[in-house]
Amino acid sequence: MHTHDGPTRQLIWALLLTGAIFVLQLVGALMSQSLSLLSNAGHLFTDLGSIGLALYAAKVGQHRPTQELSYGYSRSGIVAAFVNGLILAAIAIALMISSIYRFIRPAPVNASVMLVVTIITLGLNLATSWVLHPPQKSRDINRWGVYWHALGDAFSSLGILLAALLIDETGWNGWDPVAALAVGLFILWASWKTARPSLRILMEATPEGTRLDEIRQTFLSHPDVNDVHHLHVWSISPELHALSAHIRLGTTSIRDGQRVIEQLNHDLAAHHDIHHVTLQIEAEQHDDPDDGIPTN
Ligand SMILES: [Zn+2]
Ligand SMILES: [Zn+2]
Repeated sequence: MHTHDGPTRQLIWALLLTGAIFVLQLVGALMSQSLSLLSNAGHLFTDLGSIGLALYAAKVGQHRPTQELSYGYSRSGIVAAFVNGLILAAIAIALMISSIYRFIRPAPVNASVMLVVTIITLGLNLATSWVLHPPQKSRDINRWGVYWHALGDAFSSLGILLAALLIDETGWNGWDPVAALAVGLFILWASWKTARPSLRILMEATPEGTRLDEIRQTFLSHPDVNDVHHLHVWSISPELHALSAHIRLGTTSIRDGQRVIEQLNHDLAAHHDIHHVTLQIEAEQHDDPDDGIPTN
């Protein structure tokens, strides 16, 4: 029998629940002529895409390295998260533009249909976030991303629920595009939350929580290390950090150099969680301009 591990099973559940909410929102939007329901449906459509991408990334991330892809597929999830964020941003902007049009020319909506559809949706949203909650210590940015996202979806349903109640109470249809605009803003925020961590990794940024100055100190606190330059720390994936640097040693013996490197490897792993280290040893000051990274 084919079995799935935890995250994959969660994602399949999320896919089913989100698919159900999507159909519900679309039918509700057509029946009630509500723009806020339609924007939520559009949003859920991209959710289906992002869960699909996350499933793909989880599957492909387990592939072994090859001659061509020597790091394996560790970054496929990062690329998926980034593309997701871009699609979300595009949808958010389209929705906000339609809300403004609709606000200028409000159209009648059926508030009772909106109300019923949104109450059911809210229940399903909460069920989805419950299913998606990652283990407390998980560092998988895709999993935390989809969790926060599902929780945010519940908030936008709450907003639409409020709009439906207000339309019912005041008879003013303008509440519908107001809610649609709020959903659009929320999607824009979600797109930034999705894209930012992956963008950092794609930009080879120093991992969040790691300070280059402290790493430099780790090197210089070793008695045999006189200088460190061309120091770079980056992430191959959220769990795997890499470092490369040139170090100038006080010793000229290769055997001593080897000992220093072993000590540094140990310190970098123990204190900075860096497990993929490449060091170039130099014995004398050489003509090697640094990258101009400021120290403070
Ligand atoms: Zn969503
Ligand atoms: Zn050098």
